[in-house]
Amino acid sequence: KKKIAVMTSGGDAPGMNGAVRAVVRQTIASGCTAFAVYEGYQGLVDGGDMIKEMKWEDVRGWLSEGGTLIGTARCMAFHERKGRLTAANNMIEKGIDALVICGGDGSLTGADRFRGEWPSLVDELVSSGMRTEQEVKPFRHLNIVGLVGSIDNDLSTTDATIGCYSSLQRICQAIDFIDATAFSHQRAFVIEVMGRHCGWLALMAGVSTGADFVFLPENPPSENWQEEMCSIVGKHRELGKRKTIVVVAEGAHDRDLNAISPNMVKDLLSNKVGLDTRVTTLGHVQRGGTACAYDRMLATLQGVEAVKAVLEATPETPSPVICIDENKIVRKGLIEAVQITKDVAKKIEAKDFAGAMAGRDAEFGE
Ligand code: ADP
Repeated sequence: KKKIAVMTSGGDAPGMNGAVRAVVRQTIASGCTAFAVYEGYQGLVDGGDMIKEMKWEDVRGWLSEGGTLIGTARCMAFHERKGRLTAANNMIEKGIDALVICGGDGSLTGADRFRGEWPSLVDELVSSGMRTEQEVKPFRHLNIVGLVGSIDNDLSTTDATIGCYSSLQRICQAIDFIDATAFSHQRAFVIEVMGRHCGWLALMAGVSTGADFVFLPENPPSENWQEEMCSIVGKHRELGKRKTIVVVAEGAHDRDLNAISPNMVKDLLSNKVGLDTRVTTLGHVQRGGTACAYDRMLATLQGVEAVKAVLEATPETPSPVICIDENKIVRKGLIEAVQITKDVAKKIEAKDFAGAMAGRDAEFGE
């Protein structure tokens, strides 16, 4: 009978609670024992009450709750071997031999590193006298399964991350609100959206709201983007448009990697096009609120699949990450998925924008 723990780590995203609920209930339905690790890797390092057994009713109503109810954190201690050794000891103490982690690429990288190191951590627990050979015997292998929770939709190899559609929905709503006031005063608004290195939220928000111009990290605008943007916005105004919306991804830059900030865009629209222009940084409203139906569905189906993957894994199975690919819930290699994602960031840094876009294919479409 396995003891399977679930945790959320890195940036919170709507739908994480649905994932925790699904993992807990599928674990129990499979005849196993479920645990939740509170506050991400910090809870694993701290142990004790931070690792709690979860019953069926403990996750009741969680599908419609935003954020993550078991908490999340960024944990420096887990970057050190000493922290991971303590984490391993705490897991063995509770009898946990499998971990489902819902987080971004950082969290998943940490998870795979932990699994890779696990046999040597267990050896060290014995050699240092913290555990006996007898105690660690059933814990020679650690099973890790990743779920991708992130509003940014920034993991290549999956079409959607848990939380991205809720965030996109929130952004669209916010832009609709801004539209009304922009229209009334004939104003221009420059809207900054989240996404770190990934322009998915910005691009899809632009498409979904009919924005005039969008700035993305993966596909920077032409060298004379200032003239291009002003000319496009000017043309739209000549055609009778009473409002202007320009969406800027937080990681936007030009082809030389100089940052393009919302204020730079605002100055251009004010001074060159003569528009009364305001900047709105949407900030953390993009992360809050309840999950949309799609994210609840994704979190539930993927949580169930994660438990199945745990139960079917052998010590030789590489750690999987649960993805959605062309509407199918599938398992992919965790480390490959993280690597492809990291390569996109490297390609952007190397100004290989075509390569970066190709690396995002899973999200942006062909
Ligand atoms: P995200 O999962 O959203 O990408 P972070 O990159 O901040 O967020 O990672 C979340 C946590 O995962 C970190 O605070 C750290 O505890 C752990 N982590 C990330 N990368 C590693 C790593 N290379 N080794 C060990 N732990 C890591």
